[in-house]
Amino acid sequence: MIYLDNAATTRICDEALEEMMPFLKEKYASPLGQYAPGFRANAALNTARDRVASLIGADRSEITFTSSATESNNLFLRGVKRNNAETIIVTQTTEHASVLSTCEALARENADIRLIKVPVDRDGFVDEAAYTEALKVRPAVVSIMHVNNETGVVNDIKKLCGLAHEAGALFHTDAVQSVPHMRVDVRELGVDALSVSGHKLHGPKGSGFIYLKKGVMIRPILTGGGQENGLRSGTPDVAACVGLGKACEVLADRLLPDESAALAADRFTEVIKEVLPQAIVNRPTGSDVSFYDPDRDLREQSSKLYLREIVSVSIPGGDALSLIPDLDMAGICCSSGAACSAGKKGVSHVLTAMGIGEKLAKGTLRFSFSRYNTEEEATEAAVIVGRVVQKNLENHGILFK
Ligand code: PLP
Repeated sequence: MIYLDNAATTRICDEALEEMMPFLKEKYASPLGQYAPGFRANAALNTARDRVASLIGADRSEITFTSSATESNNLFLRGVKRNNAETIIVTQTTEHASVLSTCEALARENADIRLIKVPVDRDGFVDEAAYTEALKVRPAVVSIMHVNNETGVVNDIKKLCGLAHEAGALFHTDAVQSVPHMRVDVRELGVDALSVSGHKLHGPKGSGFIYLKKGVMIRPILTGGGQENGLRSGTPDVAACVGLGKACEVLADRLLPDESAALAADRFTEVIKEVLPQAIVNRPTGSDVSFYDPDRDLREQSSKLYLREIVSVSIPGGDALSLIPDLDMAGICCSSGAACSAGKKGVSHVLTAMGIGEKLAKGTLRFSFSRYNTEEEATEAAVIVGRVVQKNLENHGILFK
């Protein structure tokens, strides 16, 4: 099997698993316990918090552990303090469902909440003119994702956040897909809140966190014992937090020198273009667009970046719903779009928001890479994908010369 669905979830790294194990077996005390094993569990939680904070340049006190990025996004969007007057939330059309559906539910369920969804341009970047226009109504909250999970397009969060602040809004970003591949510094970006998922960065499932800048007021969505500084009641899952902390530490050590995921993705893209000349690799175009270069400071790079690790490939005439099972039979794991929408028959809202026609969007596959993918297997995978796709198309009477 060649696993190329790392934007959906990643393999847990050995270092994280090893550190977690004792907390699932003998070190099971609650971190609230007023006895030595409880104090030790609490110390482990603090270490994990330090490691997480250090990955994104935050302070330990600004990190709240959650079960997932879905929970982090919900905690911020539902918990952010609202005035009595109308609250306007600004987001964009290509957000992950955990932001988009939450904003939509909030607007549906609360007469005093209004939602503005800013469109994206053909490349998938936030439409800046529409964004500036939306800010004129002085929203209370803006939530714009850092990297899109289907296309790898990187939004210029520093700039978007600065504009939101000028308009008096709080700024949140879903950084689920950026943190595993980019150096993300919350002070540099200037954001008020940032969501991260553990299982996308080689940590355990059921782990995540939200960064909330000192002073940002949030009401909890879970009430109870008041754990996590009152923001998330319930006995903390120490093992999951320890695993997440370790995964973040390992990631911080590897981020700069390790380009293996991007190199594997590059190799895959090159070979795909050879074996499937009719395929369209959905990457932003334009002279000012560039890929994110981990060796260079973000401040010196273009404001229009994309991550090489997420490769979206549209197959004219293809149907992802029949291609994915065929690829699975041939040992390739990939997806049609966002993990949570995989399996749903609908067309990707991200691709359609970018103006990609419904037919082509239906024939779009996402291949996403992690540091565990090698260039050799990427080459092998691309050759298999080429063969399987051509056969699938032939079986459906679609021939390309
Ligand atoms: N945000 C983005 C951009 C994602 O890609 C995902 C998962 O696909 C999520 C949020 C949800 O993450 P989690 O599975 O931790 O809830």
